[in-house]
Amino acid sequence: MANDPQGDADPGRAPSESPLAPVRSDAFSASCLVCGRYDFAACYDLLRRCRHCGFVTAALFDTPNLRSLYESDYFTGREYLDYRADEPFFRKTFRRRLQALCRRRSTGRLLEIGAAYGFFGDLAARHFAYVGFEVNTEAALYSREQFGLNVYTDDFLEINPARLDGSFDVTVMWDVLEHLARPDLFLHRIGQLSHPGSLLCLTTGDIGSVLARIRGRRWRMIHPPTHLHYFDRRTLTRLLANHGFRVVEVRSEGTARSVRQVIHSIMALGLKRPDLYRRFEKHLSASWGFTLNTFDIMFVVSEKVDKADHEGPC
Ligand SMILES: [Zn+2]
Repeated sequence: MANDPQGDADPGRAPSESPLAPVRSDAFSASCLVCGRYDFAACYDLLRRCRHCGFVTAALFDTPNLRSLYESDYFTGREYLDYRADEPFFRKTFRRRLQALCRRRSTGRLLEIGAAYGFFGDLAARHFAYVGFEVNTEAALYSREQFGLNVYTDDFLEINPARLDGSFDVTVMWDVLEHLARPDLFLHRIGQLSHPGSLLCLTTGDIGSVLARIRGRRWRMIHPPTHLHYFDRRTLTRLLANHGFRVVEVRSEGTARSVRQVIHSIMALGLKRPDLYRRFEKHLSASWGFTLNTFDIMFVVSEKVDKADHEGPC
């Protein structure tokens, strides 16, 4: 059963505005995170789709220890081949995202949830006063030591908000939303730390995209328990609106990747043949890479609206 920060009877509903208070993020919501109903149809063999709003989520019986999923080898073999080695490719993507958001807001305080090794933070800190959150302690330490970034390893929902020293002008979550047990609680907390006009920019997969529909169960983004939620433009827009954010831009996002990472994803993660990847690896230069837009990743910019304009959940 879900833990609702306000003790609300319906954990799937967006909590109403309230003073900042500690909340827990380690349990799933039994009801739909988007519309609050409890009426799901099976979707493939390991997902479920809300019959009312179409939101797709993982059908897990046990809550995994999410924090442990992102420690140790998450960035060095289990999900990413070698995240740090691919720094030039990540920076290329992050530079483009930063340029896109700087066209709307180029100064102030910026909050990043899921800071990884600080490659985006290092770019953003040239324009903004930067605060990051990262659950992988080694990655957080690297970003502090290498780039001097202010990165917390605390649970974002449990940290005392007074430590964050006020509201933020921009919040970014790059490929994070689908990993969270309770993205609704994160959006609620981000809303509390924003002011009217603050931006929330994020990327996540689009299960309504042509590629996702063609690939079905084999779409590369479907891999619980690290990916728990699967949005499309409609369900994401609605979830953001529940928490006071109005979508102002949605487009498909291309991503720069190393050839090594792509081959590793196909062979080691997709085909479950790490032995096959190791045979290929010596023929692949670490500097080889490309940018590809498969039109199944959404880049979303949303804006916090005035409380009076916030219609709340359905
Ligand atoms: Zn729903």
